[in-house]
Amino acid sequence: MKIPPLIAILGRPNVGKSTLFNRLLSRKEAIVEDRPGVTRDRHYSQGTYGRKSFRLVDTGGILFGDDHPLGDSIRKQALFALEEADAIIYVMDGREGYLPVDADVIGRIRRSGKPAVFAVNKVDTVKTEEVLSEFHRHGVDPLVGISAAHGRNVDAILDAFMDLMPDTLETYPVDPGIRFSDASESDIQEWLKRRISDPPRVAVIGRPNVGKSTLINRLLGEERLVTSPIPGTTRDAIDTLVTYRNRNYHFVDTAGLRKKGKVAEASELYAQIRTDRAICESEIAVVLLSAEDGLTDGDLRIIRQVIDHRRGLILAWNKWDILPEEDVRSSPPFRDVRERYPFLAFAPMFGCSAMTGFHVSQLFQHINTVREWYFTRIPTSELNALILPLVESSPPPRLKNHPVRIFYVTQVQIAPSVIMVFVNRPEGISLQYRQFLSRKIREKYAFTGVPFLLKIQAKSRRDRDSSEK
Ligand code: GDP
Ligand code: GDP
Repeated sequence: MKIPPLIAILGRPNVGKSTLFNRLLSRKEAIVEDRPGVTRDRHYSQGTYGRKSFRLVDTGGILFGDDHPLGDSIRKQALFALEEADAIIYVMDGREGYLPVDADVIGRIRRSGKPAVFAVNKVDTVKTEEVLSEFHRHGVDPLVGISAAHGRNVDAILDAFMDLMPDTLETYPVDPGIRFSDASESDIQEWLKRRISDPPRVAVIGRPNVGKSTLINRLLGEERLVTSPIPGTTRDAIDTLVTYRNRNYHFVDTAGLRKKGKVAEASELYAQIRTDRAICESEIAVVLLSAEDGLTDGDLRIIRQVIDHRRGLILAWNKWDILPEEDVRSSPPFRDVRERYPFLAFAPMFGCSAMTGFHVSQLFQHINTVREWYFTRIPTSELNALILPLVESSPPPRLKNHPVRIFYVTQVQIAPSVIMVFVNRPEGISLQYRQFLSRKIREKYAFTGVPFLLKIQAKSRRDRDSSEK
């Protein structure tokens, strides 16, 4: 499991950064689900290049605002990129030529030793290519002339980063889990044993100021909880291993929470990148919410990120101490959240206070439960015994006067879980019908905190008959 490298696009305003950002991603978007309401972020995304994966961030615009003096804003972009990115694309404008401010930033990028490509944009035709000689003369290297607007030569940029990019099959966004068709039964058992004996990998995420740092520091300071080095790895500086009642829990990417970095406070975008990374590295994400603020759009967006990556999800209402005691006693707060947002019904939810320590240890019980479901396999015979009679009594509606048939249902993967429904006409299964099937599966198997994916797959009757032989 590898995290694709973060490639940052830098450059002065109007050189074409956002055009290039969109161009590099438009070839083929990362795996995005057909879930309504998933907002695409315009400044940070994942992309693929052939069979390789990368993450891309456009540091322009919103990152530090446009009101800084020009040089200042670029220097801040550079600071961000040099700290956070794995590779850099520095974009210049071929129509403006080589400017002193470019020279300054290029110098910094060079000294950092990070892999970089210097792109001269707006080289729209072969004729305009002569502008490159000016940049060559100043020793800018490696140099590529591109036209972001026309897609000219933009592949050359990604070619330069080939070695950094892992194969899509080995990368997130999805925990590769284990696909049953790719492994023998003994391999699956072996894999499961190994994964389950490792401590659960947990990400603590949430909007700024919900109390993430306070929670991590409480876990570190609590006497009943012991933290120890992470066996056999060098992740101690980044992650935290906590022991609670003789079990280990691996909290990923907590360095920034133990002690806040300088860039961390600077931008929303940074928070987003950090969140995405932490989700990728975890099996279970604890989304910390503020009982003071209630559920906000920002919270929902983070929750959706977890669901899109299909990691285990736990919702923790922090700052519980703020709620007046009589309110808590008369009607438990936030119970309506699940009714208002039915897609959250599967996730366990509890209240705690990182500040006072109230109910913080409940976190571990929820992690244990979700972890078990994250690795749960339901035998195909059981799934079919549940689903097929339901389909018989309430079949999907006919499609253009043809019957829509469901042949069988089987779990094809765990961690994350994928359940496949084989049908004659996939287009005949509506979102509502899919939700109906999911609901029925959850009534029997809770899959607590696990956003399993129900996939509809075409299978002709002939395929089915031959596979059954
Ligand atoms: P940013 O501020 O660096 O993100 O720049 P934008 O991507 O917003 O582009 C600034 C302007 O340059 C827009 O009007 C684009 O249409 C234009 N532009 C971007 N790429 C090219 C290109 O390859 N050729 C030409 N001629 N114009 C471009
Ligand atoms: P982060 O940005 O999510 O890491 O949030 P912090 O841990 O820095 O907390 C933000 C603010 O909320 C700080 O002033 C904390 O003292 C406060 N805070 C954190 N947890 C609690 C809590 O359980 N109850 C109350 N009342 N305040 C809290």
